Amino acid sequence: MKISQEILDLVPYKPGKPISETQREYGVSRVIKLASNENPLGPSPKALEAVRKSLQQQHRYPDPTHYELIQLLSKIWKLPAQRIGVGNGSDELLDLLIRIYCEPREGILTCESAFAAYEVSAQAARVKTHKVPLKADGRFDLEKMAVYFLSHLGDKIRLIFIPNPNNPTGTYVPWPEIESFLGRLGNREDVLIVFDEAYHEFVRAKDFKSAMEFQAKYNNVILLKTFSKVYGLAGFRIGAMVAPLETIEIFNRVRKPFNVNDLAQVAAIAAIQDHEFIEASRQLTWQGLDYFYGSLDQMGLPYFRSEANFVLFDTLRDVKLVNEALLKRGIIMRPVQNYGFKTHLRLSVGLAEENETAIKALVEVLKEIKVGKTE
Ligand SMILES: *Cc1c(COP(=O)(O)O)cnc(C)c1O
Repeated sequence: MKISQEILDLVPYKPGKPISETQREYGVSRVIKLASNENPLGPSPKALEAVRKSLQQQHRYPDPTHYELIQLLSKIWKLPAQRIGVGNGSDELLDLLIRIYCEPREGILTCESAFAAYEVSAQAARVKTHKVPLKADGRFDLEKMAVYFLSHLGDKIRLIFIPNPNNPTGTYVPWPEIESFLGRLGNREDVLIVFDEAYHEFVRAKDFKSAMEFQAKYNNVILLKTFSKVYGLAGFRIGAMVAPLETIEIFNRVRKPFNVNDLAQVAAIAAIQDHEFIEASRQLTWQGLDYFYGSLDQMGLPYFRSEANFVLFDTLRDVKLVNEALLKRGIIMRPVQNYGFKTHLRLSVGLAEENETAIKALVEVLKEIKVGKTE
């Protein structure tokens, strides 16, 4: 059977190395995984309690309308329920947005080193991913993106993806740049602008604004939210989006009726109201980041200041060797060569003691491995 080239060219997503695999391959019993930006505190305890109570009803199909969760989000976000959609992680949301809005050979636009899921979903839908370079400081270049869009109207770019903050760089776009970008591309009828705010809750920068503040003024803005990061529910697979009415209406026709299981819905409802847990997660993240910055400064390793729950740093060495040596010590970080960073590792914030063990291992490893690339 013929299979299209875009499908044949797909490379399976490489997640952070699992703990069990690392134990098996390297013969280490204690493994610390700081590779997938997960919440080191675990799931929100309120969410776990709600999940336990709901186990009894799992012979029933889940609510296909996500009614309770959407009502709650509508109240919290002060938006009509009809503007909110719920999916199997933001991954499903962005995947369906591409399938809904892009015909094969049409395009999406983002920056280089953007979160990889956009390009994977686009490729699977035979859609081309256009990318402009990051700014020298690692930030998204909205100015260049606007110019690119306007000078490539023939490429039929239908969706623009702006992860804010971005993964793996941890960098963000300050609000005046968003305002000027939307001043040029906002309210157009031929393109939707998707802000992916998976790490919004961790942002400390004073000049950050959520796209929530722009969606009333511009009718082509979409906002993606996830329960995978600050709420600690990555394993449940649930995310939400704010979008124009007609986008939600179409999304609800295209998605599978039972796209989000009952336990995920119940967990999300509880987690979003667990303010104590959210605050504890933020504080832990900020302390961890500041600890990493101090340590990296001491080691003389360059890094990007992060508004998320991880930091991208330059090992200045052959990253394969560094990563191997870390794995031997039971520390999993994330190589990001696929994002164009040849000597960098992404390090997620863990518990204070995990962070310290990881940094101690890194200090040892750096002594073993010479500066410079050996390839
Ligand atoms: C982790 C992450 C998400 C979350 O994806 P889910 O499918 O909701 O788990 C979305 N966007 C970015 C940029 C991320 O890093």
